[in-house]
Amino acid sequence: MLRQLPPISVFVLWLTVLFGVTLFSDNIFYRSQKNSLDTFPNELIEKKIHETQRAKLEPDPVTPKVIEKPKNITKHVRVKKGDTLMKVLTSNGVDKKQAANLIAAVKTIYNLRSLPIDHQLSIYFSTDSYNAHNKYNKVESFSFLKNYKEQIFASRDTAGKFKSEIKIRSLKTKDVYIEGQISSSLYEAALSKRMPQKLLMELIRIYSFDVDFQREIQREDSFSILFKQHSNADGEIVHNDTIEWAKLTLSGKPLEYAKYTSPKSNHTDYYNREGKSVKKTLMRTPVDGARLSSRYGKRKHPILGFTKMHRGVDFAAPKGTPIMAAGDGVIEAVGRKGNYGKYIRIRHNSTYKTAYGHLSRYKRGLKNGKRVKQGSIIGYVGSTGRSTGPHLHYEVIKNGKKTNPLSVRLPAGDALKDNELKIFLNQLTSIDGRIQKAQAD
Ligand SMILES: [Zn+2]
Repeated sequence: MLRQLPPISVFVLWLTVLFGVTLFSDNIFYRSQKNSLDTFPNELIEKKIHETQRAKLEPDPVTPKVIEKPKNITKHVRVKKGDTLMKVLTSNGVDKKQAANLIAAVKTIYNLRSLPIDHQLSIYFSTDSYNAHNKYNKVESFSFLKNYKEQIFASRDTAGKFKSEIKIRSLKTKDVYIEGQISSSLYEAALSKRMPQKLLMELIRIYSFDVDFQREIQREDSFSILFKQHSNADGEIVHNDTIEWAKLTLSGKPLEYAKYTSPKSNHTDYYNREGKSVKKTLMRTPVDGARLSSRYGKRKHPILGFTKMHRGVDFAAPKGTPIMAAGDGVIEAVGRKGNYGKYIRIRHNSTYKTAYGHLSRYKRGLKNGKRVKQGSIIGYVGSTGRSTGPHLHYEVIKNGKKTNPLSVRLPAGDALKDNELKIFLNQLTSIDGRIQKAQAD
């Protein structure tokens, strides 16, 4: 059939198709070229293409190369260490004058000194200011998130001046209930149930007063938590609130706490169903429990409990794990002490003292007579003294005698009273309802 057409028209047609296809896809171009080459001898094609091009005064109408103005010009910039807003703006194509005006507007609602590192800033440029050299000069607006729900927003008004405002993001909030059973460690169980890491840390911190995280967590123990989750219009999770309610069931014994903020003092704490604070005079786990609950220590280090011979408990944890003051008190000893290696002792009250051994180092500035708060870092796990591997040796000394921290009955923390207790119990009833509803979802 091709043979019946004048050869020149075949090639004009062929070229047109070829050029047409080129415009759409390189892939198709190469494929179609290859197919064509398979059907025609090479030499002939080259000759004919040449003739065709010469025969035509104008090349085939190719769509002229027009650089289209992008519809949206937005630059997202991450704040780096040492950045100022002026530096960020000018290094992203904003001239100094505009930048200064913009900064002046933002300053009225936000303290720019606290521009957090790694924070994302968005600069929206006017499409009119676009030019082919990839420069966008005129800033139309500028924004960044102050926190998960508030956005700092600055834009030009009709007079061309920048003004700023705080925009509240429209977010969806729902209760999330997570429960799970421990098969190897609390850490693994919680993460496998998609508990956000931040909340797992919180959970461990809440229970560090009650629970020895190295010895008391066992197979088939279980946990559950309730918290509020915020999502944006696209359904992306933008924030998880702190734990509102938690239950840890150890060897069949439930320990349940709910968050309560006193309307009087604005103080937030966790309380059990009797309104008693989770906080005890001393912590059972005075190290970051998350580092323990991974199976880390179980492999090679014997985790000793309290015996006649070993008058303390050991927490096997990676070197450098922070050690916390188990309770409020005064530093009574800090320095090397025989088999203990680097050692700290705190006097909490006339009855209780706690001691910490085998540290790799002390918290800077720690010395005798210094007051420490419960939960504050005093040193770091190590393996100094007589020790087979990095661990904390922890002792609770009651009336001068080393006592098993697991069996010592510590004085309870504060309890809610009167009106506060009433408010808390009402809140607990509503939490129970929310748990039921969230469980059903
Ligand atoms: Zn020990």
